Amino acid sequence: MAKKEFQSESKRLLDLMINSIYTNKDIFLRELISNASDALDKLYYRSLTDDKIHINRDELEINIEYDKEKRELVIRDNGCGMTKEELENNLGTIAKSGSLAFKENMSKEEKSSIIGQFGVGFYSAFMVSNHISVLSKSVDSDEAYVWESEGADGYTIKKGKKADRGTTITLSIKENTEEYSYDKYLEEYELKSLVKKYSDYISYPIKMECTHHELKDEKKHEYEDHKEIEILNSMVPIWKKKKDEVSDEDYENFYMDKFSDYDKPMKVISSSVEGMVSYRSLLFIPSHAPYDFYSQEYEKGLALYSNGVLIMEKCADLLPDYFSFIKGVVDSEDLSLNISRELLQESHGLKLIAKNIEGKIRKELEEMMKENREDYISFFKTFGDQIKYGVYNNFGQDKDKLKDLVLFYSSKHEKLISLKEYVEEMKDNQEAIYYASGSSIEKIHSLPQVEQVLDKDFDILYLTDYVDEFCITALQSYENKKFANVSDGDLDLESDEEKEEVKKINEDYSSLLKEMCDEIKEVKEVKFSNKLKTHPVCLTTKGDVSIEMQKVFDAMPNSMGIKAETILEINEKHPISDKLKDLYEHNKDEFKKYTKILYSEARIIAGLPIDNPTEISKLICDVLAK
Ligand code: ADP
Repeated sequence: MAKKEFQSESKRLLDLMINSIYTNKDIFLRELISNASDALDKLYYRSLTDDKIHINRDELEINIEYDKEKRELVIRDNGCGMTKEELENNLGTIAKSGSLAFKENMSKEEKSSIIGQFGVGFYSAFMVSNHISVLSKSVDSDEAYVWESEGADGYTIKKGKKADRGTTITLSIKENTEEYSYDKYLEEYELKSLVKKYSDYISYPIKMECTHHELKDEKKHEYEDHKEIEILNSMVPIWKKKKDEVSDEDYENFYMDKFSDYDKPMKVISSSVEGMVSYRSLLFIPSHAPYDFYSQEYEKGLALYSNGVLIMEKCADLLPDYFSFIKGVVDSEDLSLNISRELLQESHGLKLIAKNIEGKIRKELEEMMKENREDYISFFKTFGDQIKYGVYNNFGQDKDKLKDLVLFYSSKHEKLISLKEYVEEMKDNQEAIYYASGSSIEKIHSLPQVEQVLDKDFDILYLTDYVDEFCITALQSYENKKFANVSDGDLDLESDEEKEEVKKINEDYSSLLKEMCDEIKEVKEVKFSNKLKTHPVCLTTKGDVSIEMQKVFDAMPNSMGIKAETILEINEKHPISDKLKDLYEHNKDEFKKYTKILYSEARIIAGLPIDNPTEISKLICDVLAK
């Protein structure tokens, strides 16, 4: 039979696996048991909704057998099994989506991160075995098939013989090497303790034939060995155990196994609620975004159990979109097992649980922000966009719940702060919460408009993320303090005298300014200003759409031509003002050239493109050459 090749990426991943860069080989057993448990769950769930399948839950089990002579370890389940196509699709490819960035000479960390991205899964069995056979008979088929492989150079699938539904995986355990003793995977004691350590919570019995020493004759101290099938796991789900019976490591192992992560979670939130609906939940904040988090395929949701029995792998209704990164399980005896998914979504109980869970997560995050700022910042750097998005999504309906979870960069503290912290430090004469936006902290810091506000010793929030300004616009105010963009034309920071003075200048030179405005066309207004300290010009805006928001709209396929209304402001104290006035009187041609150059400068500072760069650079050279 011709061997089939693994997909090339799968092959490289297998190579990494076989050359065992993963130091903890033990986990292969937990992976195979976890797959078996999933297969039992799938079958049981099918039986609830499919009249043709009759299952008694008590008959579902996982078996482990070992044979020292043959060096074989067998893991068997009577779950849903796999058809020929499923064997091909599920075991012939590792990388299910996207392409893997393989590089030459990858570091150990890079390698494990690649493996981690796809969950170690079934292929981890190649860390301990040099030949694997998977004999499976699907609940949907009368035929059994066997998948076999010796590793990276391919696999075969042929017809097999199997009386009952389910899957039998046979591993040929590697010979011992100088560095590693594989024999332990053929030892009763080792296997028992591995199951206890990693798979204790599995809700189906994991059975193995174990040896018992029994005292035969007390006087003669004679013992007799006899064999007996034992259930190795307690079958109590980890979330049903009392908190003091579970170590941090237990929670972490459970998380990494159940949610296929190679990293520990950043936070574990466990709760037990008694009330209108009673439930237990075990939630995790991952320490990094799941590999497919930003793809279409990512599905949010929590695993939903009814008294230890899985009803739904990913119940999306239990999590709002802004907490879609949360992983975990919810178990409630108050939800009926046989309820259809549609009815479940409508169920009052489920809605109550969802509401409680949302509040619990929020409370935990608020606490983390207060008590462990470093962790919170690391959380926020990973998932903050999600929260900010939650603030402005759905017309801002959740903004009040989330406003105390967002952080922005403070010009004064040079780090991320909360809105509460900003407001607490506001000056007596400070009217608004100031912010400025741009593509980087450095760029924002050098904006001409920023100088005036910093001069007054007011803090400014520097927004570098494109969602930031949408988030602030949705919030509108915080504790009755309005937000003000430093690039807003009417920032209103001047004294009455200063205002009067500049108003007069603008009136005196209204025809000059009008001519500049006519020359540029794109701007709403040109005016002299006294807010610019050292800079000659800047571009400010009127109305709701700022320049940074316009950039976001411009980048959208459907921008609908939304434009910011811009104002060109010229520093009245800068020598360029006198030059303009002089040219206006004596040299209209030059005056027009200067106007165009100054407007282009203002656009460059604002980070906007120049439509006619060749013309502008020629104009600049004309002026320079004089
Ligand atoms: P994962 O479990 O993360 O999806 P694996 O590589 O461990 O990835 O397994 C790939 C797929 O093979 C599983 O999603 C499942 O569909 C199928 N599979 C593995 N083991 C079994 C089993 N014992 N019974 C039925 N299907 C299985």
